[in-house]
Amino acid sequence: MKKLEMLYEGKAKRVYKTDDVTKYWIEYKDDATAFNGEKKGSIHDKGIVNNKMSALLFKVVEASGVPTHFESLVNDREQIVKAVKILPLEVIVRNVAAGSLAKRLGLEEGYTMNETVLEFCYKDDALGDPMINEYHIAAMNFASKDQVALIKTYALKVNEILKAYFMDKGLNLIDFKLEFGDYNGEVILADEISPDTCRLWDSQTHKKMDKDRFRRDLGDVESTYQEVLERLTEGSTHA
Ligand code: UDP
Repeated sequence: MKKLEMLYEGKAKRVYKTDDVTKYWIEYKDDATAFNGEKKGSIHDKGIVNNKMSALLFKVVEASGVPTHFESLVNDREQIVKAVKILPLEVIVRNVAAGSLAKRLGLEEGYTMNETVLEFCYKDDALGDPMINEYHIAAMNFASKDQVALIKTYALKVNEILKAYFMDKGLNLIDFKLEFGDYNGEVILADEISPDTCRLWDSQTHKKMDKDRFRRDLGDVESTYQEVLERLTEGSTHA
């Protein structure tokens, strides 16, 4: 497969066309942003961690019956994916209160909720990805009711799969963000699953093992990203 012209450059990835119209070529960058682009920086070799971790987790998810855009790894920083049209939604799944939810509801980070919480945001950087509900999604035609129903089922399924998977690696899955795409009328999981898009806390020490180390200047940013990838790839049980 040939890598052709760049279609789009995002905050963390570049998307290229290929000589197969049904496939995109994704390149993961080391660039890091936070607080809607206000904080900018770079995390050495983050692109490698996120590329490899997304590939691994998409395979795990796919094997459990949730269709994903992942096709194959090209090298350390690049992968081939299905050419989807991304739905303008960020789907946030929360097991433990943290980040913006803890702030909004005045909860201590780490508060264990009775149930998993699903949130939708409208994917628009200029607006700061505002939170919306299913009425907004239908009224603005961001996705159909059938698509939303499927997205909810998939998001909760991904949560069950990943919670158990990370637990085996000594990591608690606190919350994460998913994006879905339309692939010839079919809803499939797209974007990435990485320490940029998940909150992961060490099960024993509760150390933050994710992008909060960058957002909040907690130190050990690069080494923590590396450790998460090592835990996922070495296959040993940390629990
Ligand atoms: N998240 C993300 N991209 C975004 C917003 C959130 O990947 O644009 C992830 C974030 O890493 C966390 C979860 O979604 O795992 C919930 O984020 P939250 O709403 O608490 O926002 P934050 O505190 O990160 O601003």
